[in-house]
Amino acid sequence: MPNRQRLAVVVAAYNEQAALPVLHRRLMDVLDRLDLDTQLIYVDDGSRDDTWDTLLGLAAADARVALLRLSRNFGKELAMTAGLDRVDADAAIIIDADGQDPPELIPQFVARWREGYDVVYGTRTEREGEGWLKRGSAHLFYRVIGRLSHTPIPRDTGDFRLMSRRALDALGQLRERQRFMKGLFNWVGYRQCAIAYERAPRLAGASKFNYWRLWNFALDGITSFSTAPLRAATYLGVATAMLAFVYACFVVVKALFLGDPVQGWPTMMAVILFLGGVQLIALGVIGEYLGRLYDESKQRPLYLVDAWQPGAATPAPPP
Ligand code: UDP
Ligand code: MG
Repeated sequence: MPNRQRLAVVVAAYNEQAALPVLHRRLMDVLDRLDLDTQLIYVDDGSRDDTWDTLLGLAAADARVALLRLSRNFGKELAMTAGLDRVDADAAIIIDADGQDPPELIPQFVARWREGYDVVYGTRTEREGEGWLKRGSAHLFYRVIGRLSHTPIPRDTGDFRLMSRRALDALGQLRERQRFMKGLFNWVGYRQCAIAYERAPRLAGASKFNYWRLWNFALDGITSFSTAPLRAATYLGVATAMLAFVYACFVVVKALFLGDPVQGWPTMMAVILFLGGVQLIALGVIGEYLGRLYDESKQRPLYLVDAWQPGAATPAPPP
């Protein structure tokens, strides 16, 4: 088979033993019908259930399956990074292990890629099986970060996407530790296009993202793609100082004309508490950025690999 293009599919999985076999079958159905050489890279993100054994079974049955196991749970962003780092194909697709992103969309992704797009991403029009709170908070998040970030981050777009070789190479150069992939994908630029799809409910298991984790994820996203909160702290400070100045003038003038019997304990308390609050908020915002700077400065590796098993059909280098 001379010079067939190669497509890799990267799947990050954390405790997905029930969903993986189903997803694998659906993926293979789709990939078999593409005129491409394909490779699957499953990344076990330190699962505590039988995900790894399930994956070994899949790899034994199919030479196109490559397996990567991280030394512990590093989180989805790093698991995806680890998988993408091992792609040597002409393009890669990222897809969730739980079947929420339909593999059946892959031929459309590939078609757009062949038209010359470097990044083809799926945009969710519908999110079935997710509560109003999750949908509402996600909706709000995409709007806030869209406003704050200088890098455009398309709304309602998850990690489900195809990336061309040069987009992958560019992404591979971004080694920041605090990885907000949705932002990094778009920072890369090049020609991008969207494909709308309906997000299905999970095949099995439960979401790994509770609200606390989502909140921290949102903070990571905002702090790694925007310094607007720091500027907001400055403006808050300036606004408070101006108000304080006006009020000080008022107090002085009032004391000059009406005398100054000792009064005003409630106002003083209110002002002190208000200023204290504003200062703490501003300090907290600075602390958020400082903490991330600290993480970055340690220069630790992004993730550690426990096991890497390349697929048997990984094309051998030419003799
Ligand atoms: N995931 C992962 N590591 C984690 C958490 C999640 O690799 O620490 C994977 C998970 O197995 C799934 C994908 O990331 O394939 C999306 O996770 P999930 O379905 O829990 O998120 P949701 O769809 O609810 O946002
Ligand atoms: Mg999911």
